[in-house]
Amino acid sequence: MSLSIKDLRVSIDEKPILKGLSLEVGLGEIHAIMGPNGSGKSTLAYALAGHPKYEVEDGEVWLDDVSLLELTPDERAKMGLFLAFQYPTAIPGISMANFLRTAVNAIKGEKNGDGKNKGIAITEFRKLMTDKMSLLKMDKEFARRYLNEGFSGGEKKRAEILQMALLEPKYAILDETDSGLDIDALKIVSEGVNSLTGPNRSFIIITHYQRILNYIKPDFVHILYNGQIIESGGWELASRLEQEGYDNIIKENEMEAV
Ligand code: ADP
Ligand code: MG
Repeated sequence: MSLSIKDLRVSIDEKPILKGLSLEVGLGEIHAIMGPNGSGKSTLAYALAGHPKYEVEDGEVWLDDVSLLELTPDERAKMGLFLAFQYPTAIPGISMANFLRTAVNAIKGEKNGDGKNKGIAITEFRKLMTDKMSLLKMDKEFARRYLNEGFSGGEKKRAEILQMALLEPKYAILDETDSGLDIDALKIVSEGVNSLTGPNRSFIIITHYQRILNYIKPDFVHILYNGQIIESGGWELASRLEQEGYDNIIKENEMEAV
């Protein structure tokens, strides 16, 4: 079982962004993808999620034994792919609880014989949500708030983690979930992620900074630069980056390429 990306090439408005990216994420593994701004990290996340602006020119993506690129974004989510966006939007007038129940029904809802979604009963959903919220040490009041309206950076991220806990994805991609978080919020988000790790769930943590990796320990670290993974390693690669910055690794790689 794995998420397998083979020679992926993606362009935006005919400009090539991902230039042959390959990555193998086994089920249960935690991978970090690090890279400077503009290297194509978010493009990878959006292309995997199926955003229409991101044109897949070539390559393959296999989710277990299913060809992901042939699926709609909705089908990808039902297959167990989850993406936490870098810039969540506010949805006025929709409470967290309502939004989450709709999301759970859409992604996990069972179908009746007539093909209609029978959905999860409100009482059952409340219990499920209360369970997940206590697992994530969240205040119950939080579910009554309107989605992302007046949320602090930390609260938005928490809302995403709660959504992830309820959807129980197999492959979760977090795009710069750490950006703009103070240290307390970062700890809360990391604890949430750590409480959701396990043999049947993989994480791809996309980040510019090494900081979040002090709290979430990746099994593998990859450096993305100019649309390609130029180096892969273990945790030590992230700590090397913290000390040296990206410049050395990029220079070394350019030397090799010449
Ligand atoms: P990262 O997440 O690593 O900072 P992105 O994937 O967001 O990088 O961007 C990679 C490149 O694609 C950048 O050169 C950026 O300017 C370009 N790009 C990203 N999104 C768009 C877009 N919606 N329209 C045009 N160009 C874009
Ligand atoms: Mg980005």
